[in-house]
Amino acid sequence: MKRIYLDYAATTPIDPRVAKAMRDFELEYYGNPNSVHREGQNARAKIDYARGVVAKFINAKPQEIIFTSGATESNNLAIQGVIRHATDILKIKKPHVVTTKLEHQSVYNTVKELEKRGVVEATFVSPSKDGLIEPEQVIRAIKKNTVLVSTIFVSNEIGSILPVREIGGLIRANKRIVYHIDAVQAAKFFNCNVDKLNCDLLTLSAHKIYGPKGIGALYIKSGSKLQNLAYGGSQEYGKRPGTQNTAGIIGMAQAVELLGSLEDRHSSAKKLTILRDMLISELSKIAQVELNGPTGELRTPDNVNFLVYGVDQDSLITALDLSGIAASTGSACVSGSSEPSHVIQALGKLGFDLGATVRFTLGRDTTRAEINNVIRIFKKVISELRDRTKQFHPRTKKIKGSTK
Ligand code: PMP
Repeated sequence: MKRIYLDYAATTPIDPRVAKAMRDFELEYYGNPNSVHREGQNARAKIDYARGVVAKFINAKPQEIIFTSGATESNNLAIQGVIRHATDILKIKKPHVVTTKLEHQSVYNTVKELEKRGVVEATFVSPSKDGLIEPEQVIRAIKKNTVLVSTIFVSNEIGSILPVREIGGLIRANKRIVYHIDAVQAAKFFNCNVDKLNCDLLTLSAHKIYGPKGIGALYIKSGSKLQNLAYGGSQEYGKRPGTQNTAGIIGMAQAVELLGSLEDRHSSAKKLTILRDMLISELSKIAQVELNGPTGELRTPDNVNFLVYGVDQDSLITALDLSGIAASTGSACVSGSSEPSHVIQALGKLGFDLGATVRFTLGRDTTRAEINNVIRIFKKVISELRDRTKQFHPRTKKIKGSTK
């Protein structure tokens, strides 16, 4: 059987048109875009065009787009940059950050680290049992010394869509607070117009939208104050030193162009929502298999995440892999650790003897036939693993019902 790739939230395959554009560019435009000679300026013109494409996608000005090595760097630049400005320039002793327990590690661990070092005070807003966060929860967490609010747009783990537009609208009145959105998983389907989102900073990554790995962007609204993470040359408007990943930038712009109009994105969302709901509805019928995250319109079209009782985490992912299915434990960044991620822990569902989380994320090439195969294989795998568990761990809580 052909392998079934259902880990598009970890990364998407590169679009062949993007790969070709990058290869063609790399061979012809080898000049350093910061050099004044013709070779450099030819490359520069292409980078300027690419910057314009990414800017237009989110309704920003080209000079508000800073290319980075990916979303992890963009998120770090956003958070650490704003905090350094608050402590070093504004001389705020211990600024306060509001974020959520649904964040990707690149936000969550950055804020945790700053908190641990005593640099910031932080509030991590908790989601409901369904993985939802209300705008008022974020606003209520704001204090006198809050300088930054950072929220994810779409959860990479459990697919929750956060009310970022409403949060941005409510924060706007407070000029002291910078609002950062991690829009990495949202760009494929949703409107990332920064004016409508009312944000000051916004993170994007190319390899989640059929572009190359190792390239991302941070939108920095004109006038926003943040310190650099690294020091060196004056590239990227002096905000991110180092010779740019030029082929990566070209690839990112091409990937953004290929996402098409908002209508195109909505129609691909519609197709995936049908497949997502097929998978959710069938897998939910299995005994002691429970959906993580919200349902319907509050969930992103490509995400399915289940808590499966009575099976071991690593065994489940490995068994699926051996059966031809590439799934994930949640966030690829914590796989290898059998601890449930901070996001799953925040749902307050723990306290069982044995369980696993499994995430399927769908993509452009996912078909109905593949989803039917996944349903069939998943039922078989769960049944076999549970039988084996009973054999080797007889004291494990009995699984009610049949999975066959
Ligand atoms: N934020 C979110 C929401 C993500 O899903 C990811 C990737 N899993 C990142 C940030 C980090 O992206 P990158 O791999 O480009 O550093």
